[in-house]
Amino acid sequence: MTIELLSPREWEPMRVAGRTAAGTLAWVGAQLVAGMTGRDIDALVRQDTARRGGTPSQLGFHGFPGAVCVSRNEVVCHGIPTERVVLRPGDIVNIDVTTQIGGYHGDCSMTFAIPGPAGPAQAEAARLIDATRRALAAGIAAVKLGGRLGDVGAAICGLAQAEGYGVVREYGGHGIGRSMHMDPHVSHVARAGAGPRLKPGMAFTIEPMLTLGSPATRLLPDGWTVVTADGRWSAQFEHTILLTEAGIEVLTEAPLSQTPR
Ligand code: MG
Repeated sequence: MTIELLSPREWEPMRVAGRTAAGTLAWVGAQLVAGMTGRDIDALVRQDTARRGGTPSQLGFHGFPGAVCVSRNEVVCHGIPTERVVLRPGDIVNIDVTTQIGGYHGDCSMTFAIPGPAGPAQAEAARLIDATRRALAAGIAAVKLGGRLGDVGAAICGLAQAEGYGVVREYGGHGIGRSMHMDPHVSHVARAGAGPRLKPGMAFTIEPMLTLGSPATRLLPDGWTVVTADGRWSAQFEHTILLTEAGIEVLTEAPLSQTPR
């Protein structure tokens, strides 16, 4: 595994890419309503990404057919944004936006709850979403210059397990820069003190996927959509972070501070 370090002159274009992706995610997220389809969401992402001068990194990546991943309810990640995915009241949906601009990529996602009847399932989903957001925050808080990458996954896993949630093992964060996916792989179930040492110039995503039931996953026959093996719901939040001599920067943070509905 070779971890490419971004030189200081690459940090500003990385910040721009992060802000751009986060802006699109916030703009799209604010418009989600019941009845909207995956294709509608895909169109919004394409429109807003183009308006900001970027291109959707996911489109055509290893043949992925959409500009965004739309992962609803039991879909863990990599949901294809088709017209067959229709948001219903009470659903939860992760929107994962990756934008290339100026040759650099920014990557972020959030899970939104579609307003619906208040019942035990919605309360349970709201708690899952809240725990996943806090798991991402715990992972980010564990990033320290001179620390180890495994500290991130250990913090996430510790929080999730203490609260009774599963943490998906098969998919994780990734290095990011001039490519959307680079080394290192960022496990969300790692051991503290293990893995590569954290250095200035590293940029990677942290994107925990928590589950109400077992964290075991299954790949659907479309070759992309990852679902929980037991069919219970899953939530995910993601930021792109950059390490500099001054510390850690969350490049996709600002618009994500808007409270999701
Ligand atoms: Mg992403």
